[in-house]
Amino acid sequence: MSQEIEHVQCLIIGSGPAGYTAAIYASRADLKPVLYTGMEAGGQLTQTTEVDNFPGYPNGVTGPEMMEDLRKQAERFGTDIRFGYVSSVDFSSLPHKVVVDEVKTITADTVIISTGATAKWLGLPSEQQYNGFGVSACAVCDGFFFKGQDVAIVGAGDTAAEEATYLAKLCKKVYMLVRRDEFRASKAMVHRVLNTANIEVIYNTEAKEVLGNGKNVTGLRTINNQTGEETDLEVEGFFVAIGHKPNTEIFKGWLEMDETGYLKTIPGTTKTNVEGVFACGDVQDHYYRQAVTAAGSGCMAALDAERYLAAKEDEVKVSI
Ligand SMILES: Cc1cc2nc3c(=O)[nH]c(=O)nc-3n(C[C@H](O)[C@H](O)[C@H](O)COP(=O)(O)OP(=O)(O)OC[C@H]3O[C@@H](n4cnc5c(N)ncnc54)[C@H](O)[C@@H]3O)c2cc1C
Repeated sequence: MSQEIEHVQCLIIGSGPAGYTAAIYASRADLKPVLYTGMEAGGQLTQTTEVDNFPGYPNGVTGPEMMEDLRKQAERFGTDIRFGYVSSVDFSSLPHKVVVDEVKTITADTVIISTGATAKWLGLPSEQQYNGFGVSACAVCDGFFFKGQDVAIVGAGDTAAEEATYLAKLCKKVYMLVRRDEFRASKAMVHRVLNTANIEVIYNTEAKEVLGNGKNVTGLRTINNQTGEETDLEVEGFFVAIGHKPNTEIFKGWLEMDETGYLKTIPGTTKTNVEGVFACGDVQDHYYRQAVTAAGSGCMAALDAERYLAAKEDEVKVSI
């Protein structure tokens, strides 16, 4: 028996700040959006406790609470929110085809991709134990909580260098662990790090274990990979800045990406190289990676989708 194929005007993939914001705008524009949450309903912010920098919450909010608020707001205007993940897409012709949970095919006039990115971790059990309790993958998000304290950061690329200098403005001392005897970051960024008085770069060194008192981080055990010598640093925070992986596997071969897999959009818009397919949030932004910027681009994606559909409708009217 052949399964009936469902058709929607606007399909949103992902339920982080970008996806839910796109859903709020798309449903208010009467695009009757259907949103698939993916395996992490609510996105990356569900992994964190305090969110202090999202406008509109003067006393801060927990990540899960904030995402619950966004979900309710999207539902209030009629977004059809479903638990499920998109397993493959076919953008070869219009309408676009999207397969959900490997079984259900949906056709869509517009697709908004907001599948986010996943922070890379070192893989230490203690790192996961103290994640959110002194361990973080985002200096801009969590640096403030370590004002005046000593922290360590691991990473050697541009992002790590950027985050180390950001932390140096807030923290008393920043230990920067670099695995090799040199940085991967650009010369300008390395210059900035080396000229910041309260950053101490420790080369040929890796994190061996995050030390804690059962509640919070109290230190970091490091190991020199040349000599095997172990050193304990007294720090209250540990930042992992070894990169992010955008969730774009299923779009390979369909959409243009940069060398690290981030989706490319036409500057100033959320348009991808395929008509009717838009990308917003961290999946197309390796630079800002904040909830508010993700939400902002989610709004742009819904407006781009709405205007695309309106222009299509005009084309049909003119041709009649
Ligand atoms: C621990 C932590 C703390 C943070 N703290 C802050 C903070 O305090 N302030 C701040 O501004 N930012 C913070 N950030 C960054 C912020 O969470 C991200 O910038 C933001 O969540 C990005 O939103 P997004 O909607 O683009 O993607 P995400 O939040 O990454 O959401 C992606 C969504 O896509 C879904 N998905 C993925 N693949 C599929 C698929 N195949 N099919 C269907 N769905 C799919 C996932 O299930 C998820 O719902 C933090 C991040 C982390 C990890």
